[in-house]
Amino acid sequence: MTHEQYDLVVLGAGPGGSRAALLAAQAGMTTALVEQDDLGGTCLNWGCIPTKMLLGATASKPLLDIQRKQKSATGEINFSLNALQQKKDRFIKGSRQALGKQLKQAGITVLTGTGSLAGPHELEVATAEGSQSVTFKKLIIATGSTPASFPGLQADGDCVLDSSHILSLTEAPESLIIVGGGAIGLEIGDLFSRFGTQITIVEALPHLAPSEDADIGEALQKALKREGWTIHTGKRVSSLVTESGNAKLTFEDGTEITAAKALMAAGRVPASTTLQLDKAGVQITSRGWIVTDNQLRAAGNIFAIGDVNGRTLLAHAAGHQARYVVSVISGKYEEDYLPPAMPSCVYGHMEVMRAGATAKELLESGLDVFVSRAALIANPIAQSYGTTQGFVKAVWIKKEESFELRGMAATGHGVSHLIGAATIMVEQRWQQKNIHDIIYAHPTLDEALEAALSAPLEAL
Ligand code: FAD
Repeated sequence: MTHEQYDLVVLGAGPGGSRAALLAAQAGMTTALVEQDDLGGTCLNWGCIPTKMLLGATASKPLLDIQRKQKSATGEINFSLNALQQKKDRFIKGSRQALGKQLKQAGITVLTGTGSLAGPHELEVATAEGSQSVTFKKLIIATGSTPASFPGLQADGDCVLDSSHILSLTEAPESLIIVGGGAIGLEIGDLFSRFGTQITIVEALPHLAPSEDADIGEALQKALKREGWTIHTGKRVSSLVTESGNAKLTFEDGTEITAAKALMAAGRVPASTTLQLDKAGVQITSRGWIVTDNQLRAAGNIFAIGDVNGRTLLAHAAGHQARYVVSVISGKYEEDYLPPAMPSCVYGHMEVMRAGATAKELLESGLDVFVSRAALIANPIAQSYGTTQGFVKAVWIKKEESFELRGMAATGHGVSHLIGAATIMVEQRWQQKNIHDIIYAHPTLDEALEAALSAPLEAL
């Protein structure tokens, strides 16, 4: 057994862990990064990047289909999923290599193996060559999350797949059942619909995009139905299995549906169970998320960032937390972690974007909430693309005699491009007097932000 000592050890090389290691090395700490699989984590290898590579490459298909339906174009365009997968895999391999080079140049020791705690200052790393003990002054746990499964609803890699399996298919299935109407299910459904796959999506909560306000989820649902998706909301699934070469889903009411393949996209679970956290006094919730205090500290010298602490399951949240924790560890910052307005998007043909809070969240905290909305049908860019479904909404709270912007959300084609401006507006807590502090270029989708901000306010 070899033995090494570092100022900082980072466990997990996803967007959280890699960012933390690079920033710590820049700050002069001796740093080791432990990764059991591919550098880049879920985001680069099985998440954000593969989905966007495939969605991006095929983005013209639904737009051309609109023109064909409107009789302004003829002909067929067919993508090869196999060729796209090869292109995607080459890109991801190159990105992984670039990350490895960057880590090496920064002087970071990368250890390939599975880490678990051996004590408050010691990690044991099981490598292909045997066990290695690593000691640290500080540890950042950034082990991320994995697809959730439930008894009777488990990906088997045959007809019932998880997001990692399905992103490797080289042939599109004829039909696909998706369990879970959140971002992962929606993006993958959109992708396969471009290959002619018949999509059925099942969501237990009352509307798709269940973490958004109901009006957003319902508008999205209406648009996807028009595209031919079968949508079941408010329905619970009791089992999902491979049977006779197909995926068979049984609802709790006993009804059944089948498809060539099924995707389990009903949430994520923390990668925390094998870390021996009790050896260093790190606590977890009943669902396994690592409990962190206001400084993202899990125990005296141990911090947890990214998906594994369960705060926000997004790559940019992991990166933001990494930056914060490294500033705390290096003594540059000691305030509590108070993240600014969080941006989030569902990508694809019909997209969803949100910056800041939903109206529902603000109402639940007892605030006086108002919304103003603008439909995309009045936006010239949406009209020119033939993508006029959806709307933008601004969520305000009443503050004395004025209104303060606390959230912006939208659904429709291209609305993810609004996220930067919307995040700044919300973070700066715009009031109505700020709406014309900037000029909105014409014609752009940005004008829908202006229209939503300027529309009459409706009390909720
Ligand atoms: P991860 O990226 O999960 O990395 C954790 C790393 O730790 C992994 O490499 C894992 O192998 C390693 N690890 C775990 N346990 C150990 C151990 N014991 N020893 C050593 N190594 C270990 N987010 C967005 O912001 N935008 C998107 O568009 C987006 N799209 C997504 C699409 C899909 C299909 C999926 C599944 C996720 C998507 N996400 C997206 C979410 C995003 O991928 C995660 O929020 C992000 O990767 C979390 O980063 P992380 O650093 O916390 O963990």
